[in-house]
Amino acid sequence: MTVAVAVVCGLLGLAVGSFLNVVIYRVPRKESVVRPRSRCPGCGTQLADRDNIPVLSWILLRGRCRTCGEPISARYPLVELGTAALFVAAALRFGLDWVLPAYLVFFAALVAVTFIDLEHYIIPNRIVYPTLFVSVPLLVLAAAAQNEWSELLRAGEGAALAWGFLLVVHLIQPRGMGFGDVRLAAVLGLFLGWLDLRHVFLGLFLGFLFGSLSSITLIALRRRGRKDQIPFGPFLAAGAVVAVLFGSPIISWYSPG
Ligand SMILES: [Zn+2]
Repeated sequence: MTVAVAVVCGLLGLAVGSFLNVVIYRVPRKESVVRPRSRCPGCGTQLADRDNIPVLSWILLRGRCRTCGEPISARYPLVELGTAALFVAAALRFGLDWVLPAYLVFFAALVAVTFIDLEHYIIPNRIVYPTLFVSVPLLVLAAAAQNEWSELLRAGEGAALAWGFLLVVHLIQPRGMGFGDVRLAAVLGLFLGWLDLRHVFLGLFLGFLFGSLSSITLIALRRRGRKDQIPFGPFLAAGAVVAVLFGSPIISWYSPG
């Protein structure tokens, strides 16, 4: 049964990843994510259906536009495969649970945030607010269906805790931590809080750990100066994903009994 759920989620992930590519390109440019249809950024030719199949089209076209031969970024198949992998992981983690759809929305949002923040150094409200708008009702629905009101309460506590903690960091170090990161933290806190509050601490800790290690590495390699901006969203996202998928074994290993 879990295998069937995982397969369905994997295929759904490819399709959602394809949509996320549109979101990642258009939302920072303040364009509609619904219309018009996707075009080649090089020559403006509208993509035919056969050139719009996740991953497969990119491979068949050898990463180039059919009309003008302009290279198509490897980011496109990467986002599609990455989203599919995260959806499969979520399916294996939660199985056929009412809360699974909410976590799929969460993971999809983290993919979009990661790639937008890496390129533009922003975490758009047009990602964070719609994510909350969809996922809060899904969590309420899961709580109602499975009588998990204490999980829902903890999700609220987690959101408030993570938001408050990053707000303090932002006030101390506004250059290092933008307000977009503070808003994102509320979303992370919500989903990690649903699992329990230790997951909230673990997720944020891992985010800061990944961020610091990357900064140190980049500075050591002289790829970035001490004062250059480094996007923090991708690290928070990575920390949250690890905490959702592997948090329970990590926590029980760290605090036996
Ligand atoms: Zn083209």
